[in-house]
Amino acid sequence: MIAPDFIERKKRGLEHSAEGIREFVEGYVSGTIPDYQMAAWLMAVNFQGMTNRETIALVEVMLHSGETIDLSPIKTFKVDKHSTGGVGDKVSLILAPLANAVGCVVPMLSGRSLGHTGGTLDKLESIPGFNVMIPKKEFIHLVKKYGLAMGGATQEMVPADRKMYALRDVTSTVRSIPLICGSILSKKIAEGINGLVLDVKTGNGAVLPKYDQCLLLAKQLINVGQHFGLKVKALLTNMDQPLGQAVGNWLEVWESIEVLKGGGPADLVELTLHLTAWMVVLSGIEKTLDQAKTRSEKAITSGLAWEKFIMMVANQGGDVKSVENPQKYPKAEHIAPVIAAQSGYIKSIDTYAIGMIALELGAGRRSLEDMIRPEVGLHFEKKIGDFVELNEPLLMIHAPDKKAWQMAERRVRQAFTFSEDKVIPPPLVYETF
Ligand code: URA
Repeated sequence: MIAPDFIERKKRGLEHSAEGIREFVEGYVSGTIPDYQMAAWLMAVNFQGMTNRETIALVEVMLHSGETIDLSPIKTFKVDKHSTGGVGDKVSLILAPLANAVGCVVPMLSGRSLGHTGGTLDKLESIPGFNVMIPKKEFIHLVKKYGLAMGGATQEMVPADRKMYALRDVTSTVRSIPLICGSILSKKIAEGINGLVLDVKTGNGAVLPKYDQCLLLAKQLINVGQHFGLKVKALLTNMDQPLGQAVGNWLEVWESIEVLKGGGPADLVELTLHLTAWMVVLSGIEKTLDQAKTRSEKAITSGLAWEKFIMMVANQGGDVKSVENPQKYPKAEHIAPVIAAQSGYIKSIDTYAIGMIALELGAGRRSLEDMIRPEVGLHFEKKIGDFVELNEPLLMIHAPDKKAWQMAERRVRQAFTFSEDKVIPPPLVYETF
């Protein structure tokens, strides 16, 4: 392989052969293609895109760059959900035990917080003792025995994505449809699932903010996913404001506990039920979305979803007492409200900025080595469309100290806009494919 020729081809907008993509990506994983050549190619892909055939070839080589999980001895349908990433998106924590309570087999491998978006693994790890890095054998055992396990990919799984994602993150090549497609689908297919529900987030807090781009991404994910034999549903959902009220690892676990116990914010409950219901339909447990939603609602009111959550926490070494008594969890050092400086309807929230504020409080990472502070974050009292009186709290900041609170407070104020006229909040789900 002559790497500069390969890069030049993409730079000129020409199609690669599957063989060429395989050689280039394999070379990168083994170390014969250096970071700078991969970075140049990623940028070329970023501008020129990829054909369907190329994207399939990319998924194929990424998927086989490491170990995969063979769940074929489990004969039932295995289903998972993946979100393209957002702020306050704690749906997986509720949906996995809920879908399991309704009868789905859920082998879920998730990621860590990245940039302004949160990560399911960091949220789970805020539960004392909860082990997300379960060995492959143990993961398979849990799925076989309980039909539910939530963890992270091992070092041996999809190394191509780990290496390429880290490079994309620092070369401004994250927002590319075929690269997102390759990254998500290679990881999800490696889990050994049969069905996948994709929550493609659109709006100012999404990885890919523009609606038409998200539409293309959803269609591409379905196309390529189906090529690999997956049953796929993709939903375009709003990320112009945080989902629910809590942003920050433990705060989000606590909010998830509330939902599993029959409470919680309406938007979070509704979206979780909607996504869970699609998993139930894909699994063939119910025929219609309405029936599947009703069944999922019953699994919450009966307490079964909560029981499954407790079972999962116990199975993975987590401290059950801490989730049974979330109010006893250690609190952030400085918790105080941000007070509205004017009255009016909340018109918009810069959700990307909110994600970055949470990161800087300690809820996320700037680099993989950064330590997470599980107790910090934001708790929204008001969201888009709500009327706020002068001096009413907009949200609470859970900060590690007063200085960090002051930094966050200043930036939170800039993230809100207000209107004198009524504002209609955005819909939760735009389209389903
Ligand atoms: N989530 C992923 O796993 N990969 C991407 O490239 C973007 C979002």
